[in-house]
Amino acid sequence: MKQFACGSVVPGCVATFEGADEDAVLQQVAEHAKRDHGMDEVPPEVVAQVRENITG
Ligand SMILES: [Zn+2]
Repeated sequence: MKQFACGSVVPGCVATFEGADEDAVLQQVAEHAKRDHGMDEVPPEVVAQVRENITG
């Protein structure tokens, strides 16, 4: 199980995600980023940061 804490990339955000693989986590992160961080699309550099901070 892969896990990611949004606070690793967005200081102060307490949202956490888990999924079977990185892509499953990234999909949830994209939805969260759009809803809660106003990102219509997650920029590639943010995706890279997310991938670096996925654990598990
Ligand atoms: Zn967040």
